[in-house]
Amino acid sequence: MTTTLLQPGEIEAAAGSIPGLLLPPADLFLSRARRLEQLAEGHPIGDYLRFVGRLARAQQECLEAGPAAEPPASERLARCREHQMPPLSPAGLGLPDGWRDTARQLTRTVLPSLPATGQAALGSVLEKPDAWLDEQALHLLDGNIQGLDAAVAPIVGAALQVHWTRLARQLEPAQVARPEHPNLCPVCGAHPVSSVVRIGGAENGLRYLHCALCSAEWHVVRAKCSNCDNTRGIAHYHLEGGNKAVQAESCPACQSYLKIVQQEKDPLADPVADDLATLTLNLLMDEAGFAPSGINWCLIHGHP
Ligand SMILES: [Zn+2]
Ligand SMILES: [Zn+2]
Repeated sequence: MTTTLLQPGEIEAAAGSIPGLLLPPADLFLSRARRLEQLAEGHPIGDYLRFVGRLARAQQECLEAGPAAEPPASERLARCREHQMPPLSPAGLGLPDGWRDTARQLTRTVLPSLPATGQAALGSVLEKPDAWLDEQALHLLDGNIQGLDAAVAPIVGAALQVHWTRLARQLEPAQVARPEHPNLCPVCGAHPVSSVVRIGGAENGLRYLHCALCSAEWHVVRAKCSNCDNTRGIAHYHLEGGNKAVQAESCPACQSYLKIVQQEKDPLADPVADDLATLTLNLLMDEAGFAPSGINWCLIHGHP
């Protein structure tokens, strides 16, 4: 008789069917704003967290006020599913109509609360021509950091998130195939910000990667590198005396790390807000020689 040891993923699969894909909830940005406001209290970068919180509130308003998004045609959805392609990839969709209006609306909402230097840095969103804004959006989506105006990246990213989140909310999980590569969003093909171990419901105790663009979340087992599939030597780091809900999961095979936000430790923890509020952990991981496999558009070249 032979005994087969189950790997972590197989144990979860054996436990029954689990939700592989979570599409963004209606109050996504509002919950994030509240979390950022909470984390900002007494925090060394509290002013910046409050700024991103105001931005998230403005995102929620735009998400609710905007016209209903037109999801891709059913033939296209079926074709993407068959070929394991993300149906909302920016390369396939192009920049959505109205995205610049959203970027300018977000800017006008957050601008009055900023100091003069911050206002000057963000002014270009209102003053520069449409073509410049489109160029910034394409640089951000392509991960071309060199071409980006770092000061406007959080606004450009926030506007794109509103449009892609609205589109993702039109889909059903069954319309989306599992991705070929677990480090890319199955809905839009973007990189994750971080990962989150959720509590409650069918997803209780499961780890999901949170998309930087469309806010969808896809399941990847814990203690496995989402960047290269390695399961050996995975280590977890956290800050002594810091935010207990956040760890960095490192992989010795590809020298990358991704944060894990544990809702068991704090039910309100959010994969974007808590990532931002644990910037010191990024610095620690950089020093230890690990590169991030996630991206947070509010952390490109520091902050204003
Ligand atoms: Zn996505
Ligand atoms: Zn790896």
